[in-house]
Order: sequence, then structure tokens, then C-alpha cells
Amino acid sequence: MRTNLDDIFQKAYRDLRPRASMPEFRVEFYPFANVNNTIRLRDSRLHVRLSDLLEGAPESVIEAVAHILLAKVYRHPIEAAQAGRFRRYVGSKEIRTKTHLVRQMRGRKRIESPRGIVYDLDKVFEELNIRFFHGLLARPQMTWSQVRSRRSLAHYDPAHNAIVVSKIFDHVRVPRFAIDYIVYHEMLHLKHPVKLRGTRRCVHGPEFQAEERLFPQLEKAKAFLKSM
Ligand SMILES: [Zn+2]
Repeated sequence: MRTNLDDIFQKAYRDLRPRASMPEFRVEFYPFANVNNTIRLRDSRLHVRLSDLLEGAPESVIEAVAHILLAKVYRHPIEAAQAGRFRRYVGSKEIRTKTHLVRQMRGRKRIESPRGIVYDLDKVFEELNIRFFHGLLARPQMTWSQVRSRRSLAHYDPAHNAIVVSKIFDHVRVPRFAIDYIVYHEMLHLKHPVKLRGTRRCVHGPEFQAEERLFPQLEKAKAFLKSM
């Protein structure tokens, strides 16, 4: 049997913050449709949700995830070795196969290509993932919408775990920073899930907005989208 998840997190916490008082942990596996792992500090308790795809992972991988998540919460640099350990595991064939099966079981939208004429949404996602999320977000289905809609630029569809981007942006006149911004925004929706009532998808809480401001060309991108 594996070491208790709490123990792993407590040890990672101790390594990161040797003198700080130990918070309470609540660590659980959660059926994400992909390898998402989340952490939230609430009332001095750390709530951790690990993708159930990691349930069979070696302890060293769980330790790496614990380090990465805690480093994020407490704004410490992430050790490259730990990030590498996690990424290698997620990229391993075994996990990719498992993720693929789970996605099929948990329901996917009809498969459309992430590859446009100018931009490959999978590539855009992965580059942003490394740049802003330490490679921690699992890529959802990336899709160009078939309808060239101006009104709906893009949206994240949690039911199908898909990011859908309007085809009007797959065009040479659209600069890279604009498509980056559109996808980055939807990645924040992926990262900050919202309990939905009705059909309103786009909820931008204070945490969301603060993180959106980390995008360097935010104003430029917004101005460009307005001008389209
Ligand atoms: Zn939004």
C-alpha cells in the first residue's frame, strides 16, 4: 500500500517551508477527464485534488506533484527535476493510453482537428502551458469552430473538456499574441472551473482576472480583438 497521501504532502511542505507551521491537508483523487491537479488554500487548510489518472503512479511522481502544487501556492520556484519527473510520467505511453481511454469513456465531442491553416491549437496550448502553467494543465480537445462566429470568439466547454476557437482567428492577419491571448483566456477557464447555473459560461472572478493580467500583451491583444 502506498504511503498516505497526506504524508507525502506534509513531507513536501516541510522541504519547502522548514519553519512554517504545518497546515491541515485534504488530499483526494478526483475523476478529472485528464491529468489535472488542483490546489486551493482555504481557511488555512490545503485542499488538493489529484487526477485519478495518477492513482497508480509511483510515489516519486506523487511527490513531484506535491512539490509542484505547493511551490505554486507559496510562490516558490519549482525544481526542474520535479517538474521533469512529472512531465515524463504524464507523457509516458501508459498514461497517454489511459488518458485516451478515460476521455473516450467520459465522453468527447466529435473529433475535429486542432490544426488550422495558420495556427495549430495544440501547439499554441502546449507553448502557453509551459510559459504560464509549468506544463501542468492537461490539454483538452482543441477545436476550431466550424462556424465563423464573430460573437463567440472562443469558449471552454467543460462538459466535453474542449476549447473551441472561432475559425475567424485562423488567419495570417491575426498576430500570434492575439491567438495566444484567446487560448490563454480559455485555459484560465480550464484552471478556474465554475459551478454552472444556466448557460453563462464566462465567469471571471478576481483570481481569474489577476491571472489574466500576467499575460504580457493583454491590452494590445484586447485592442486587436476589438478592431477585428
Ligand atoms: Zn471568459
